[in-house]
Order: sequence, then C-alpha cells, then structure tokens
Amino acid sequence: MRVWVDRMLRGGEVMRGVLFDADATGTVVAETSGVPRPDDAVALQVAAPGFANAHSHAFHRALRGRTHESGSFWTWRELMYRAAGRLTPDLYREFATAVFSEMAAAGWTSVGEFHYVHHRPDGTPYPDHAMEIALADAAEAAGIRLVLLDTLYLAGGIGRPLAAEQLRFGGGSVDRWLERWHALRAELDGRSPLVTIGAALHSVRAVPRDALSAAVGGLPASVPLHIHLSEQPAENDACVAAHGLTPTALLAAEGVLSPRLSVVHATHLTEADIRMLADAGVTAVFCPTTEADLGDGIGPALELHDAGVRIAVGSDQNAVVDPLLELRALEAGERMRSLRRGRFTPAQLWRIGSDDGYAALGLPAPARLGGPLDLVEIDARTVRTAGGALEQLPLTATASDVRRTVIGGRVVSRDSDDTADALQRSIASLFGEAP
Ligand SMILES: [Zn+2]
Repeated sequence: MRVWVDRMLRGGEVMRGVLFDADATGTVVAETSGVPRPDDAVALQVAAPGFANAHSHAFHRALRGRTHESGSFWTWRELMYRAAGRLTPDLYREFATAVFSEMAAAGWTSVGEFHYVHHRPDGTPYPDHAMEIALADAAEAAGIRLVLLDTLYLAGGIGRPLAAEQLRFGGGSVDRWLERWHALRAELDGRSPLVTIGAALHSVRAVPRDALSAAVGGLPASVPLHIHLSEQPAENDACVAAHGLTPTALLAAEGVLSPRLSVVHATHLTEADIRMLADAGVTAVFCPTTEADLGDGIGPALELHDAGVRIAVGSDQNAVVDPLLELRALEAGERMRSLRRGRFTPAQLWRIGSDDGYAALGLPAPARLGGPLDLVEIDARTVRTAGGALEQLPLTATASDVRRTVIGGRVVSRDSDDTADALQRSIASLFGEAP
C-alpha cells in the first residue's frame, strides 16, 4: 500500500511530496519526502495525520436532535438509559457501523469506544461477548481503527446499588469483570489490525473505592486505561462527602493515576487536582462539544496543558461528530474564559487532535514510521477554507471539508447518503418508530 501526499501537514509545517509505504497490516514501513507522485500510489492533495476520537459512546448518537428542549446532564441521562435499554447485539452492530462510518467520513481515523452496555437488560450475560463482538464487527465494516475500552461498572452511585436500568452495565465484581476482560482480549487478539482492547473504570460514582486498585492491578501494564472524572460538581460533592477526597485525590490515594491513564472531562478540578494529574503524567480527554451540549462547564484545559498534562479530544455523546469542531471548541472555551486569543496554537491543536489522542488510546503516532498509515485529507479550497493558511485549518475547516480518510493504508469510502439512511433506520428501530 502506497499513499503520496502533495502537501503534508505535520508538526506545524507543510512538507511537499511525501510518500508513505505500508505493510499488509497498514503500518508505515517507509517514508520519503520531496518526491514526485508514483503511478502506483493513492494521491492526496492536502493531508494530515488522522484524528483520534479518544472518547466515544456510539449509541448516544441516538439522542442527537431529541433532547434539546430543557433539562440538565441528569435528565439527559434518563433518556440515554432508555436508549441503552433497547440495544441488542444485532441492532448495535448495524447502528454502530453507521456511527463509525460517520466518524471515519468526518476525519476521525481511530476511536476509543468507552463501552459499558455489556449484558442483557436484566443483567444476564450474552454468550460469546455478543455486544463487544458487534462493536468490533462494526468498526471493521466502517473501516475505522477501534480501541474497545471495556468498562467496569459496579454501582449506581457512591454507596448505592445498580438501578434497574443500569443492570446491563454491571460487571458483578472486580474478579468477574477481569475474567470477562481477559477472555474478551483473547477473543479479539489477532482478529484484525484495526481492533485492539483497552480498559476503563466508569467513574468514582460507578466503581467503589475498594474496587479501584484491584481493578487496575488485574490489568496488563501495557493496556490503556480511561475513567470519567469530575464532569459534574455533584460527583465531586458526593465523593468529598463519602471519602473526604476529591475524585482526583481518591484516584491518587488508590494508585490509579499513572501515565497510561486518561481522565475524561476533567471539568471541575482544584489546583491540587491539576498538580496531581500532572505529576502522574496522565492524559486529559476533553469533549468540548458534549460538555457544551450537556451544560457541564468549561474545564481548565490550558492549566492542565501548561502543568504538563497531555490533552486529547473526543466526541463522547456524538451530538457532534467533527474533529475540527471539537478542536475549535476547545480553543473557543479557553478564549471565552481568558478574554485572550491564541491560547492553543494551531500546531498544538493538530497534536492534541492526532498524536496525543493516539497515545491516549495506546496507539503509536499515525503517519510516522512504525505507526499506522492513518491520514485525513482536507479540502483547502472550499468556501470555508479558501484563502487561509494550511497550518490554520483547525480554525477554519469542518468535517464537511474532509475529502477522504486513509485508515491502515486503505481509503475509506465516504457515502454520506448511505450512512444517513443507516443512521435513520437504526435510530428509528431503537425507539420503535417507523423509519
Ligand atoms: Zn463519556
């Protein structure tokens, strides 16, 4: 597989005539620059390393355009539980294929799927990891790189059992979840270069204090680990009331903070929290369009970044599926908070969207020697992008300007009508409506 890029955007620079060679697994084995286009290579005009969607719940896509009248994060969650309650493995395979296709067409070349809808609605397991295999099938059908972040979920809140609608998320116990996780890992191993496994702890709400270190200790050290952290003030209040510690301090006390950890949202943090996260070398995954949609607040992205925390972005509830808008919303939040411009430079935004997101998912940097040949081609001559500097495309382009994505050396087709039909069909069937 060979891909040639006329103008390659990387590290804040524009390189001319870059030729990538990839092996059968889609890994870059050679890169040369300043060369004319060979006849046997796919040619892209303006391209950059692919974007990593470091936090997604694919089925939340069903709520887009249905929840905007009123309410809060907590009332939105009630509707989300209703959608989760109707998923079956077959329906999720079809629906997630459409959502992952939407992502790939938008320029996300990899996705960390934070997955907790494991079992039947009454909590009894499906045979043979049916839900997880449905997601792996969906990623392969869509051609997107998937890191399946299989999630431990044990409690309905601090000191509370699972509610009826949470039974299908429940891991039972740390030991039972670990046993299932290792079996799933063996099942996915060697299946496809596109699919790997990671792990997640849902949150300090859903994983009791005494389960945290046991869960971390039972996972291989190489595996990326994610957790929702301090998305809502109510979560912080409950944690302080129960343990006398902020959620970040609780994770520090239980040995969860480490360079392989990604904390998702990190919206409501103290200065001490920021120091602890930086000292431990964690990544913070911001989901700015979701945090705006749910009224979560604006997290201290720049303070974290300046303290040394790596930043990545994710689409989370998929109300918006657009890596460029995610990056722009991250920067917009900083400008709104600080009354200043240029908080993150365009070069930093490229890195946050791509290399640092890949690292958060345990993946090597894309479009580099030894990394996956994942690229996003952006049209620099549309009504939005014409006339601007290529390096500043994260501040001008949207997913509508993404022409093609290359994932593992293969061009992912972009048929938005087919994807829209598939989304319409599966969302209607999820809610029991006519398509
Ligand atoms: Zn989430």
